[in-house]
Amino acid sequence: MRNFGSLVISRSIGSVLSTGPSGSAINTLTDDIFKYDIDFNDDVGADDRFSVVVDQTWRDGELVATGPVQAATFTVGGKLHSGFRFERNGKAEYFTGDGRPLKRSFIRMPIPYARLTSTFGNRYHPILGRMRMHEGVDFAASTGTPIQAAGDARVQFVGWKGGYGRVVILDHGHGYTTLYGHMSRFGSEHVGQRIAQGTVIGYVGMTGLATGPHLHYEFRVNGVHRNPLSITMPPPEPLSGLALAQFRAQTGTALAKIRRVEDVIYADATPVATKGRKKA
Ligand SMILES: [Zn+2]
Repeated sequence: MRNFGSLVISRSIGSVLSTGPSGSAINTLTDDIFKYDIDFNDDVGADDRFSVVVDQTWRDGELVATGPVQAATFTVGGKLHSGFRFERNGKAEYFTGDGRPLKRSFIRMPIPYARLTSTFGNRYHPILGRMRMHEGVDFAASTGTPIQAAGDARVQFVGWKGGYGRVVILDHGHGYTTLYGHMSRFGSEHVGQRIAQGTVIGYVGMTGLATGPHLHYEFRVNGVHRNPLSITMPPPEPLSGLALAQFRAQTGTALAKIRRVEDVIYADATPVATKGRKKA
C-alpha cells in the first residue's frame, strides 16, 4: 500500500542548534529559499523559528521518499518570511506569497562571505605604480575558492586576457554581462553554454596582474562598467496570468498547514514535529 502525505516541521533555531539540523530541508532553507533575504551568519537568533512542508511517500508503513521543500516560513526578529515552491516553465523556483521570485536576478558577491579588498573607482595600482580606474571590485579569498555565476547566463568567454589572467565572461541578457578575473582554473563550462545562477565557473587565483589571490569582478550594463555593490539590480519577473492563479491555489493549502501546526506548537512554545498523513 502506498500513501502520500505531507510533513510539517516546525522548530526554533535554539532547538536546531541543540539537536542538530533536520537534514536537507534545513539546507534548502538557507541555501535556496531565504539566502537573499536573511543573513544566516548574523541575523538569526535562538528565538527565531521556521516551518517547512515537505511531501513524503510511504509504502507499507515505511517512509520511502521525501520530496523537496514545498513551502517554508522563517520568522526572524519577529519578521515573517515565506517561500513557496512552484514550477514555472518546467523549472522549480521559490516565490513569496504574492508570486514574486525569492531568487534575485543577480547575487551581489560571486564568492559568499569573501572580504572586499578593493572598491570600484580610481585607485593607485600596486603593480603599474600609477593612478588608474578600477573597473570592478576585488574580493580576497584563498587560491582554489569556488567562484559562482552571479546570475543565469550564457557563457560568452573562457580563456586568457592579458592582465586579467584566466577570465570568464557571462552574458545575462538584457545588456548585462559579468567578468571574473585572475582565476587559478576554470569550472567545466564552455562558450555558448547556458548556466544557472550559482554554478561554479572557476576558482580564485592570481593569474595575470595580481599581487595575491583574489577575484576581480566586473559588472557591465550595455558595455558600461558599473559598481556591482551599489547598482540597483533588475527585479526578476513575477508570476502572472494562469501561472499566478495556479500558484495561488497551491500555496493556500501549504500555508494553512503551516499555520495549523504553528498554532499548536507555539501556543505552549515546545518545538515538536507534527505529521499529517492522508491516503492517496
Ligand atoms: Zn580588480
